[in-house]
Amino acid sequence: MLVGDDPASEVYVRHKVKDGSEAGLFVDLVRRPATSTLDETLAVVRALNTSPTHDGIIVQSPLPAAMGPTAEMTVFETIDPAKDVDGFSPVNVGRLVQNRAVLRSCTPAGVIELLERAGVPIAGQHAVVIGRSDIVGKPMALMLLHRNATVTICHSRTANLAAVAATADLLVVAIGRAAFVTRAHVKPGATVIDVGMNRVADRAAVESWFPDGSPKRAELERKGSILIGDVHPEVAEVAGALSPVPGGVGPLTRAMLMQNTVTAAESRLEGR
Ligand code: NAP
Repeated sequence: MLVGDDPASEVYVRHKVKDGSEAGLFVDLVRRPATSTLDETLAVVRALNTSPTHDGIIVQSPLPAAMGPTAEMTVFETIDPAKDVDGFSPVNVGRLVQNRAVLRSCTPAGVIELLERAGVPIAGQHAVVIGRSDIVGKPMALMLLHRNATVTICHSRTANLAAVAATADLLVVAIGRAAFVTRAHVKPGATVIDVGMNRVADRAAVESWFPDGSPKRAELERKGSILIGDVHPEVAEVAGALSPVPGGVGPLTRAMLMQNTVTAAESRLEGR
């Protein structure tokens, strides 16, 4: 469900419709104008909860600001946990805390998939997660903990952030600040996962990050902006491994959404 016309949401939803269709799923896009009320949105969610043809429900964030600051949480509480393929409902978050989640938040689940398929060890490692949002940082820390990492969570009030981050064997960055994490935050050889996705049009900033002749400068000329993560490009020189932006965590997030949807469908068929 897409309420309003936020440009970034339009892109995300287009990707989700395409992914689902390509995977052979039936994708039903319900659109409502930005003037919709929270009650109207909840009525759509309740109808989808009882629909026999829908296995998964996503309500794209952010909802229009006029719905109020708690609207998203109210929506996440209303979605049937068995159809909550984003993994945001309090029931699924609670199950994740207890390490028995069936539907897990897609971005951190994608990071785990990426680490496991790349053969990066997790158990016994010191993992530092920068960012503590409900959809990325917190579930990320829990998933790493359940795989026996020793986990530190950092945020905007962490003292000596660079020094703490530089003790990590595994550094996951999800803060939404372009090129924030520099060489000073990274232990040589550490694995760095860049979750951030920041669109930047500031020429001076782009030129400070990328040398003359780099593809990113050309991209700025061509498109008027570039996509960059939360990790400074110089980190590639010290990290043992670094996930790219774009083309790293983003596609994995999309894949995990498809996986959650198939899981939800199978669970329903099996009467779980
Ligand atoms: P969010 O809800 O805004 O949370 C940001 C977190 O970063 C907060 O916990 C905040 O700390 C922390 N933070 C902000 N500035 C900081 C600083 N200077 N030092 C240390 N910590 C700082 O963001 P989000 O939804 O988690 O998303 C984070 C980034 O990931 C964004 O760039 C977003 O676009 C991207 N993202 C990517 C995907 C994907 O599929 N690749 C999916 C989701 C999100 P406080 O709690 O103290 O405020």
